[in-house]
Amino acid sequence: MNTLDSLLENVSELPSLPAVAMRIIQEVKKENFAVNDLASIISYDPALSAKILKVANSPYYALPFKVDSVDKAVNILGIKALKNIALSFVIVKGLKRNSLDGFDHNLFWKRSITTAVSAEMIAEKLNVKLEDTFVTSLLMDIGIIVMYISRRDEYLKVLDEKRILNLSTVEAEKNFLGCDHQEVGSEILRRWGLPENICQPVAYHHRINEAPPSLRDTLHVLMLSNMASSIYHGKKSVEKFQELNELLQDRLSLTATEVGEFIDSIADKTVGILSNFEIDAGNLKPYSQILEDAVAELGKLNLSYEQLVMELKQEKMKVEDLAKELKNANEKLRELAVKDGLTNLYNRRFFQNLMEKELESAGRYSHNLSLIMIDIDHFKKINDTFGHPAGDDVLRSVTGLLTEALRKSDTAARYGGEEFVVVLPETDIKGAVTLAERIRKLVEKAEIMIDAKAIRITVSLGVTTYTPGKGTKNVAELIKSADTALYNSKQTGRNKISISQ
Ligand code: GH3
Ligand code: MG
Ligand code: MG
Repeated sequence: MNTLDSLLENVSELPSLPAVAMRIIQEVKKENFAVNDLASIISYDPALSAKILKVANSPYYALPFKVDSVDKAVNILGIKALKNIALSFVIVKGLKRNSLDGFDHNLFWKRSITTAVSAEMIAEKLNVKLEDTFVTSLLMDIGIIVMYISRRDEYLKVLDEKRILNLSTVEAEKNFLGCDHQEVGSEILRRWGLPENICQPVAYHHRINEAPPSLRDTLHVLMLSNMASSIYHGKKSVEKFQELNELLQDRLSLTATEVGEFIDSIADKTVGILSNFEIDAGNLKPYSQILEDAVAELGKLNLSYEQLVMELKQEKMKVEDLAKELKNANEKLRELAVKDGLTNLYNRRFFQNLMEKELESAGRYSHNLSLIMIDIDHFKKINDTFGHPAGDDVLRSVTGLLTEALRKSDTAARYGGEEFVVVLPETDIKGAVTLAERIRKLVEKAEIMIDAKAIRITVSLGVTTYTPGKGTKNVAELIKSADTALYNSKQTGRNKISISQ
């Protein structure tokens, strides 16, 4: 199974499309689709109806009368606009989460909505006629949310790496997850039943050159709108402003000032629209205003240009150092949470989680899953004879031997004091016993140096296997089974392997 499938399959918490959105998509796909049907779906959702009426009555349409029913709104806005407005509202409402967990959801949606507003404005300016521009650009980066929800810890790492190594989001995702948000996003939109004219541009929005020629216009608009959004929400505002300004001057035969005004108007319009989506606009303001405010702030500092450059350089270096430290600290923390301090093997909690995952996958794909439990024989005597620190050394030596015996796909963990476990995916009882025997012999033969004296130890092992279709063992039962086998080895002489199934 490839990474993309595993990302989308392995997750119970994948965002689902809100039911109203689902009904709207199904309805407009019908050949004999009637305007009234769309109006009645929308009318079932009072919050959505209220929003639609607010939009129809907004200054944007500047109507001389009040629109007071969804039916009327359909006539004013037109079916396509209504469908897109309705879809956008329910999707954002359904997928937005609180930003409590290391990912700024408000910023994500603020950015996506700015992109969507820019895309519509830019398409109109360029005179490019596109369908579903707003929804497509709004959902362009949906893969990021999906990846974040399904692989939270890994995705936070992706974001760290992106910042520190100065990679693009796509590069960082590919490096660390094996697929990127274009693939994931287009695939989930497809699964939600959205039409290809939305899914396809999402799949290509960072690689225009590889896209089918029919998508070029749409992708061009998406690329420009992404740039506009970066001016307001990215870290490279100045560069992005210059880049977009030059591109638009070229395409539209406008002056820099005129394009500047256009870019300003994107912020104004976005602020109005964000409130419809109940997204906090923060201090979003026109770019020219941002510049004016910055110049005023600088004036207060009363520094020479050279001093200013120097200060900026120093600040930049400080920030970079801080980012590196933070990254290292984050990695340490992540490691601490899953590793055992003495042996650096995975800890018991990690082992429990891994077993849950492996057992689920073994059940789903009809594979065996084996488990070996290992306990050092008469370990107490080593502590009593040579002291506790020597006992620790023995534990580390056994860890080394275990690691040597294992295959790449096996995972060892420290289960407790002098007990270890090994998880063997896709391994039947015969394979597991062979590996257990290899471990037993390796330990038996090894000379462990303590105080310049070589000592020998042995281990007892218990082996068990999950065989698909044979009973329904859960993780606790598998562990108990391995433990019973281990107990049997201890009872019948130690330095041996027992099986329990
Ligand atoms: P058996 O062959 O029946 O397993 O006997 P045993 O002595 O190995 O088993 P027992 O469970 O009686 O004793 C285990 C000892 O392991 C007791 C405990 O003090 C010691 N131990 C547990 N954790 C550590 C550790 O981290 N370091 C050291 N040095 N000793 C530990
Ligand atoms: Mg023991
Ligand atoms: Mg023990």
